[in-house]
Amino acid sequence: MKHFNIAIDGPAGAGKSTIAKLVAKKLGFVYVDTGAMYRTMALHFLRKGIDPADEASIAEACRDVDVTIRYEDGAQQVILNRENVSDLIRTEEVGSMASATSVYMPVREKLVELQQELARKTNVIMDGRDIGTCVLPDAPAKIYLTASVDVRAKRRYGELVEKGVECDLESIAEDIKERDHRDMNREHSPLKQAEDAVLLDSSLMTISQVADAIIAIAREHGLEV
Ligand code: C5P
Repeated sequence: MKHFNIAIDGPAGAGKSTIAKLVAKKLGFVYVDTGAMYRTMALHFLRKGIDPADEASIAEACRDVDVTIRYEDGAQQVILNRENVSDLIRTEEVGSMASATSVYMPVREKLVELQQELARKTNVIMDGRDIGTCVLPDAPAKIYLTASVDVRAKRRYGELVEKGVECDLESIAEDIKERDHRDMNREHSPLKQAEDAVLLDSSLMTISQVADAIIAIAREHGLEV
């Protein structure tokens, strides 16, 4: 049986994961967070002390690393060489390393294969940067979710403050701009809206409004629940 897949792409902090999780719950889909996979690879490179500019060492480190996912109470866990690292990948350091190392093909090839395999098995809502363009080009429903830099920086700031992490809004905004620039301008699988994706700007929308909009888009594109 062919599964119904929903692809969500967009820049950092647009609310993709929060919303995709909610939509997955409402529709009974599996949520696949591909950013977490790039972060897991990045953690591996950081632990090995590899310079993100050193492409040869990155390629070599990709060969003997094992990244998989599993679900615990419906939540995606990322496993790096048998260790559950889900709680270690949410730092700004790992996020920056993920953005710097996701430019390399050996990193992408390994993770894209895992992502496509997951989408073949079940109904998924998958979020990332290249899902609608590269990973699941045939997904019936594609959404490009964005928001202004200002709104995204404030959201990220709020999340970090809530976790008790010391941070300042201005440097978060700078980091977001830098990450957007790198993700949108890289050679392989840059972040861009797929031609057949629906653009949603969440700057002035609530989480539940965005989730409802995505479910409506999925239904318009053939989802029958
Ligand atoms: O979404 P998140 O901030 O967790 O992603 C971390 C980084 O991983 C992004 O900045 C991007 O460079 C990379 N990424 C990617 N392709 C994806 C998902 C994430 O290149 N599908």
